[in-house]
Amino acid sequence: MPTQPLRAEPDTSTVPVHDDVVRAARRLRGIVHRTPVLTSQRIDAACGAKLFFKCENLQRAGAFKFRGAYNALVQLGAEQRRAGVAAYSSGNHAQAVALAAQLLGISATIVMPHDAPAIKLAATAGYGATIVRYDRVTEDRAAICQMLAARQGRTVIPPFDHPEVIAGQGTAALELLEDVGMLDALFVPLGGGGLLSGCLLATEAMQPGCRVYGVEPAAGNDGQQSLRRGELVRIAVPPTIADGAQTQQLGQLTFPIIQRAVADILAVSDAQLVTAMREFAACMKLVVEPTGCLGAAGAQSMCGALQGRRVGVMVSGGNVDIAQYAQLLGHA
Ligand SMILES: *Cc1c(COP(=O)(O)O)cnc(C)c1O
Repeated sequence: MPTQPLRAEPDTSTVPVHDDVVRAARRLRGIVHRTPVLTSQRIDAACGAKLFFKCENLQRAGAFKFRGAYNALVQLGAEQRRAGVAAYSSGNHAQAVALAAQLLGISATIVMPHDAPAIKLAATAGYGATIVRYDRVTEDRAAICQMLAARQGRTVIPPFDHPEVIAGQGTAALELLEDVGMLDALFVPLGGGGLLSGCLLATEAMQPGCRVYGVEPAAGNDGQQSLRRGELVRIAVPPTIADGAQTQQLGQLTFPIIQRAVADILAVSDAQLVTAMREFAACMKLVVEPTGCLGAAGAQSMCGALQGRRVGVMVSGGNVDIAQYAQLLGHA
């Protein structure tokens, strides 16, 4: 038997399992909001199913990403904490890492695109992080981040392809299943797959009969293509209002979990996202960002097959620029 080190550093090559989600939930207790699960009779009647919306738009920093970020940061050793962290993100992961770092007294540098929504830039700076801007089309954010990290000794916290990030995100589904009991299906927004793979780990152990769907923007359906072909497909930065799902490919850790456990990956148009966004506002008084509407739009697209079913929907975030929000809602 190999001897175990007394205090193992988190190993970023380890494939996360259900127990990691359970452990993450323990670490996050009292730190993350246990977000409400809301329902709407109007939406249920329109779809012919019973829908349970897990409202991570009401999570701290406005999205589920705080779960994974805190779960990763809280496990850093004393030396890593002293040297600080670095992250790259179009927004919500940035805010999440910035807030988690602030709570833990860790310095954070965040690499963000020039065209990131103003509200996300302001919030990230507001949590005390240093922001480095880059051009989304011509520059490689991961490379910029790695270079900064190497120069300053910072630990890079990836937005999705990291075992503790995946485990943290999975706690959103764990809470949902604990709160509502049996579900026939669960619809989860999909970018790089941190949220989806975490939700799959939570669900496959707790409710193996629940069919879990990933939902992507149609313009950026790299996950759907990857699933069909059985190998990672990389695409150009997709043009979509779902700015949190403009990832170019799934991760090395997230893809195998998704391949193993997902029921299917659906793709929805920006117009479907706007329809869902308007429904959240009108029926539920909820402000949901375009990416946060992916799960709801996916469920809507499958209403025919969901008659009489109990359906979970991950509402992943609510950080939308108010001017953009008003403009999108006004678009009839
Ligand atoms: C990041 C993000 C996603 C996608 O999450 P992945 O883990 O990259 O798949 C979905 N919705 C919102 C609001 C996000 O911020």
